[in-house]
Amino acid sequence: MPRKLSRLGISIVCCGALIAPAPALARSDGGSPVPPPPKDAVETGYGGAVASVSPYATQIGIDVLKDGGNAVDAAVATAAALGVVEPFSAGIGGGGFFVYYDARTHKVSTIDGRETGPQAFTSTVFIDPATGQPLPFDQAVNSGLSVGVPGTLMTWQQALDHWGTRSLADSLEPAADLAERGFTVTGDFNAGIATNEQRFSDIIPTAQLYLPGGQVPTLGSVFRNPDLAATYQLIAHQGIGAFYGGVLGTEIAQTAQHPPVSPSSDRFFRPGVITAADIAGYTAPLTAPTHVSYDGLDVYSMGPPSSGGTTVGEALNILAALEKSGWKFSDATEADQVASLQAYLEASRVAFADRNRWVADPAFENVPTAGLLSPAYAASRACLISPTSTLVSPVAPGDPTHPSTTCTAATTQTPDTDTEGLSTTHLVVTDRWGNVVSYTLTIEQTGGSALTVPHRGFLLNNEMTDFDFTPIHPPAPDPNLPAAGKRPRSSMAPTIVLRDGRPLLAVGSPGGASIITTVLQILFNRLDLGMSLPQAIAAPRISQRDSSTTQAESAFLSSPLDPALTGLGQSFVPAPPVFTTAPELGAATGLEFLGHGEVLAAAEPTRRFGGSAMVVDPGR
Ligand code: GLU
Repeated sequence: MPRKLSRLGISIVCCGALIAPAPALARSDGGSPVPPPPKDAVETGYGGAVASVSPYATQIGIDVLKDGGNAVDAAVATAAALGVVEPFSAGIGGGGFFVYYDARTHKVSTIDGRETGPQAFTSTVFIDPATGQPLPFDQAVNSGLSVGVPGTLMTWQQALDHWGTRSLADSLEPAADLAERGFTVTGDFNAGIATNEQRFSDIIPTAQLYLPGGQVPTLGSVFRNPDLAATYQLIAHQGIGAFYGGVLGTEIAQTAQHPPVSPSSDRFFRPGVITAADIAGYTAPLTAPTHVSYDGLDVYSMGPPSSGGTTVGEALNILAALEKSGWKFSDATEADQVASLQAYLEASRVAFADRNRWVADPAFENVPTAGLLSPAYAASRACLISPTSTLVSPVAPGDPTHPSTTCTAATTQTPDTDTEGLSTTHLVVTDRWGNVVSYTLTIEQTGGSALTVPHRGFLLNNEMTDFDFTPIHPPAPDPNLPAAGKRPRSSMAPTIVLRDGRPLLAVGSPGGASIITTVLQILFNRLDLGMSLPQAIAAPRISQRDSSTTQAESAFLSSPLDPALTGLGQSFVPAPPVFTTAPELGAATGLEFLGHGEVLAAAEPTRRFGGSAMVVDPGR
């Protein structure tokens, strides 16, 4: 148990005592609502495991595993269920990144299911023609213009085609059943609507679905989404052609081009330019994962267009370089914790400076992925970092295409604004054969663009707002400007860590750009500070993203670590709240492989109302 961090008011829910056998979901009992499965943040056992934010979704994944499905089958079924119970973060109207470890080949593969810019996009698509100025962010979010071609459904099909054992129809069935029969409204579902009430009420089909009778569904009431059940059933019968090139694609384009705004709304929803042909032309390619070696372990994550893998990887390489130069990471004393967190914050600061300059869609930009992940490049960046002082942000990016052999002083440039959403969701799955999935999916903001496709029961993403609307650091080139067919830079970092070619950890989180720091901090907590995985997830988070201030959670702000690090030049501010008034960073899920077939599944004990971890067989 880490001494100081564990005293910061975090209660760790662990292991044995809370394990309860999970009842299977009954399928046909006359259409009565599905009872809420038991909810624990941590379970340890055998035969496979699932962790997600929702016990309903986790239970569906466990049922697939118990029924003989593999990790990919269960991941798709779990993700489809999240589209029902966590529709404000994920669903077939969005996109994501799927990372898979195959136990037979010991290989890690990734699927790029990122939403894509319509063919009508240009670099100035988010400039208001009336003013010549970039659109205010909330106007861009609440629009058809922010809707990119969704990638989630094609990701599921790709994953099943390559590594699954079940059909997409089978994988959608439990989620369709859940949508049809209904589920009990939980805190996150209620808050997801309450925080969006205004803009949801502006859109007729969104208000009809999520504000029945004009009200936010109350906690404990039953919520049904028969439209989504029918949509899943349509896809089950017709295949993904119903979406990519079919009726659903046509209706998505129609909804974005002509937002169904209520006559009583005074908000202007700018029409979109996405077409049915854009949707028909979508692909979700298999891409190379990022890889770094850290503490003798192999860390795999998602490559561009996500900046998750390159930024977590570069920061780990910087930490390794600092360790090599004599820095010690430990939580044994408060002084050790301060030194370790100084290294973590500064490594992240520098890695973000490089991420902001270099990472974007590699189909459009020359992204120096190998350079960003090279230990030599990290060493040339690590030498900027001091144990007794703090770099001034924004830090000038380095040049990973020509790493410097000397340590050049960091110069500053103009600051960035960080506008990514705080929504999204992450799930992890493993099966009895040892296959592993780490999958992050999103519709960008909580509630996406607020546009529900009429009578189809799902929200459309606003992922195109992840593009920069104008160059961030002129005259330096900005690789993340919009273009036709381009994918906006993401921060999603679904990660799998191997030891000697076998899985050790799988982890990921939502949280916009703070996804990167959440994953990095969990890995650092687990691998360097001696915490268990549940402790590493529960520990107070701090997020430095090459900004003059570092976002922090309350438990950190009230700890002695805040003044100690402030004394080194760091400056902490409360992280933005997500659903409650408490500052909050991320909502992680993870797995740790304990040897001899035993696996620990972990979710958040409290963030986002707590997540759900289950194993197939809690004891032998
Ligand atoms: N759109 C963000 C990304 O792709 C994710 C948003 C979130 O996590 O809330 O990185």
